[in-house]
Amino acid sequence: MPSAMETLNKVLRLEKTQGFQNKAMSGGLGAYSAIWKAQAQLQARKPEHLMLIDELADLMVRYEQTDERSERDALIRYMMDRIHNRVPPPEPYNQRRYELPAEQARPTPPPNLLDADAPTSTARLKPRDTNRDRERDAGKAKEGMSQRKRIGRSGRGAQPDPESDSAVKLFRKRDERSALNMERELDAPTLTKVQVELESLPRLERPPRGARAAVNTDSAANILRGLRAPVENMSGIGPKMAYLLNRLGIFTIEDVLFFRPRRYDDYTRMLPIRRLRENQSVTVIATIREARVEIGRNNRKDFVIIVNDSTSDMQVRFWGQHWLSRQLDIGQQVVLRGVTEIFRNRLQMSNPEWELLDPENLRSVGIVPIYPLTAELSARALRRLIKQVVEYWAERIPDPIPEAVLERCNLANLGWALRQLHNPDGWDHLYHAKRRLIFDQLLIMQLVMLENRRTWQRVPSRPILVSDEEMETFFSTVFPYPLTNAQRSAINDIRSDLSRDVPMNRLLQGDVGSGKTAVAISAIGVALLNKTQAALMAPTSILAEQHYQNISGLLAKIEPLLGYKPVIALLTSALSPSEREAIYRGLADGSIDVAIGTHALIQDGVEFHNLALAIIDEQHRFGVEQRGALRGKGRNPHLLVMTATPIPRTMALTMYADLDLSIIDEMPPGRTPIKTRVISKNDRERLYQEVIAEELKLGRQAFIVYSLVEPSAGIDAESALEGYEKMRSIFHKYKVGLLHGRMKPSEKDEIMRAFRDHDFDILVTTSVAEVGVDVPNATVIVIEDANRFGLAQLHQFRGRVGRGQHASYCFLVCESPVEEAKDRLRAMEQFSDGFKLAEIDWKLRGAGDLLGIQQSGNGIEALLEDMTPELVELAQHEARAIHAEDPDLLLPEHHLLGQRVFILRDTRSDVS
Ligand code: ADP
Ligand code: MG
Repeated sequence: MPSAMETLNKVLRLEKTQGFQNKAMSGGLGAYSAIWKAQAQLQARKPEHLMLIDELADLMVRYEQTDERSERDALIRYMMDRIHNRVPPPEPYNQRRYELPAEQARPTPPPNLLDADAPTSTARLKPRDTNRDRERDAGKAKEGMSQRKRIGRSGRGAQPDPESDSAVKLFRKRDERSALNMERELDAPTLTKVQVELESLPRLERPPRGARAAVNTDSAANILRGLRAPVENMSGIGPKMAYLLNRLGIFTIEDVLFFRPRRYDDYTRMLPIRRLRENQSVTVIATIREARVEIGRNNRKDFVIIVNDSTSDMQVRFWGQHWLSRQLDIGQQVVLRGVTEIFRNRLQMSNPEWELLDPENLRSVGIVPIYPLTAELSARALRRLIKQVVEYWAERIPDPIPEAVLERCNLANLGWALRQLHNPDGWDHLYHAKRRLIFDQLLIMQLVMLENRRTWQRVPSRPILVSDEEMETFFSTVFPYPLTNAQRSAINDIRSDLSRDVPMNRLLQGDVGSGKTAVAISAIGVALLNKTQAALMAPTSILAEQHYQNISGLLAKIEPLLGYKPVIALLTSALSPSEREAIYRGLADGSIDVAIGTHALIQDGVEFHNLALAIIDEQHRFGVEQRGALRGKGRNPHLLVMTATPIPRTMALTMYADLDLSIIDEMPPGRTPIKTRVISKNDRERLYQEVIAEELKLGRQAFIVYSLVEPSAGIDAESALEGYEKMRSIFHKYKVGLLHGRMKPSEKDEIMRAFRDHDFDILVTTSVAEVGVDVPNATVIVIEDANRFGLAQLHQFRGRVGRGQHASYCFLVCESPVEEAKDRLRAMEQFSDGFKLAEIDWKLRGAGDLLGIQQSGNGIEALLEDMTPELVELAQHEARAIHAEDPDLLLPEHHLLGQRVFILRDTRSDVS
């Protein structure tokens, strides 16, 4: 979660790139200012912060009040300047008195903290003359601080460190537990002398981009050949090392160059152990003072170390990992990253990530890349290898993106980006580096999808169409309710696709309960009226059955229109061989009109007589191949895929650039919104007694959702297994069921079915409960540790209730030390629109949260974390322009791009 300042900084930047339309934040900056102000105030650590927050919030309102583009531009510039402390605070703000609430104001730590063992690499090895060192360090630190102040005040004029006092930096946080980072920032100037000696580079508005050396095709090809050589070709890499690298997915030199760090640690901003509290996610540098193996219950052998960083001790327990005693020893310095906890009154970390301290990292600027590792490969060895590769290749690698595109999009050179990725000069540099690398991937992926679509559409499909009158008659015959406008407009999109000989490839996106099935039924109707077959595939057999019952009931009514009763078959793996054979025969000879089923539909034996339309429900549950396989059952049939995943439009267009998009953005009338409340753990007793017990008494049912299946060391969250026991004892008069992802599909189906049939009153479950099974009698859903889920996913969960005529409730239980987590959840109380929630989440937390519910099958998942709406739109725009101008990528400036696209298409032949 970014800090409030950082978020605002981003929002302003986005506003600027979007042309000052006041759309960067849904609802506009004016409305956002109040929410933002409240959040920012909680994070303030100095009275000056409050002053700045006050001023910025006022400016946001002013921004909204003016329509003048130039004035908005000027306001944003000014706000940025203020955020980065490039201009002094104006009147009347600097005349007002600001005071922090007592608990927010923290005293400056006493000087002995300066003695922090960590970041001086050589001094520590010899015994220290502690007092003298202390004095010296303290002196240096003071010097550093006063220098900082001077720079801060003189602003732009002073070169060395214009950012040091900037609000973004003071507020900046790099992980979720925000309060902690705030503290890290607070500690920074006093912590170490390394900090003081650092030379920060000036803030980077634009990445540097010198003219590019012209590379001719031949030499580019040579270089690329070199890059694609196996890692074994490098000197010093033997078979063993190569094998370890392969395990990380590194096969070629190019893979080394592009190997992405998992995260970055800022060694200059560590917290001393003494200042750690419970439940913080931190990185600590310390020395091992004690190490032992402890034998616990069930003969479990834990490896326990006591580390000390000269401010205090901390115990670290590696559960059941006694073998670590061979790798970690007394006297070694380690970097530990994990979550603090209190165990028997002592501060402890369980199973932290660890590595031996590499003194090299202390000497570097301070931002250290942390790479994914595999057993037996040390971080140090990997870093050394990467460094070597970067040094040689970063300057040589030919840049596939035309210079004009880089210029337009304000992107860095590839070589520069790769250097910065592995050895960032600062957070801004890293930002530009990632931006460039992600842009490349987005762009190439888009080009691949556009090309796939073009290829696929070359084979004509059969046009099917009905007149408007026929369609209206169909609607009034089949549906007991009038369709919503949104449903009608989606059906129109589909009808116009179906009437062409280019195959339809459309994504229908609509919130849970928005009535996608009716749209699907209408499309099936078009196929039936044209005497062709249709198929609908759902991810689970219980969903397939639900569709089968619903659809056959409704379609039976069209007998008068067709002249015969349509034959509809259900095909799942539960059929006996003879039943299955009968359906296979009916599909092949055309006596079955509509097939509804699961994966069983795409088995080898299934053949259709004249399949014209294939529909996939909950399409994110299927892989790319399965979509392709269903399509393969006909001669290029029209394809409709449906999803309830509320991903923002820009993101949908990226993940499915090869699909056309229809959105149902309107609910059928008469729905009562689900009452949603964020509560804390203390309120649970009341929830159980006052809500759940009451609903159960009325004969209703409840879902309780947990983020974990079983307890996990190091994650402070209750698990479904624990919850199951708890619910059974609290609600012992009722029947409680348990459903989780580790069960076999058939088992899951059975339990879901039992819950639907009211064999259970309470279902304790995990995120598997997400898919759209109708249990109209369920009226309560409780989501434990709700802050561990993204808003979009929470919204999906919430859609499990409110499907009947009863009023329904959703409770989000959250005990996060971070207030922002709760603020975020409160958006759930406010909004019932899944798209809106997804958008908010994307802006607040980045796209990573959408990961839990997305399976696009095109590898974009890896990028989600750093993907921004702005970048997605840029890449989309550029890809379309390039594709329109030069679809085969034959122009010289597209040559390298063409190669990449070709390689990617080759490895995933069909993405649509
Ligand atoms: P989803 O989009 O989640 O698949 P469904 O298609 O299952 O939603 O529809 C949810 C419910 O809304 C169903 O019970 C359906 O009968 C009902 N429904 C669909 N369209 C309308 C409408 N236009 N008016 C009233 N009810 C509708
Ligand atoms: Mg549905």
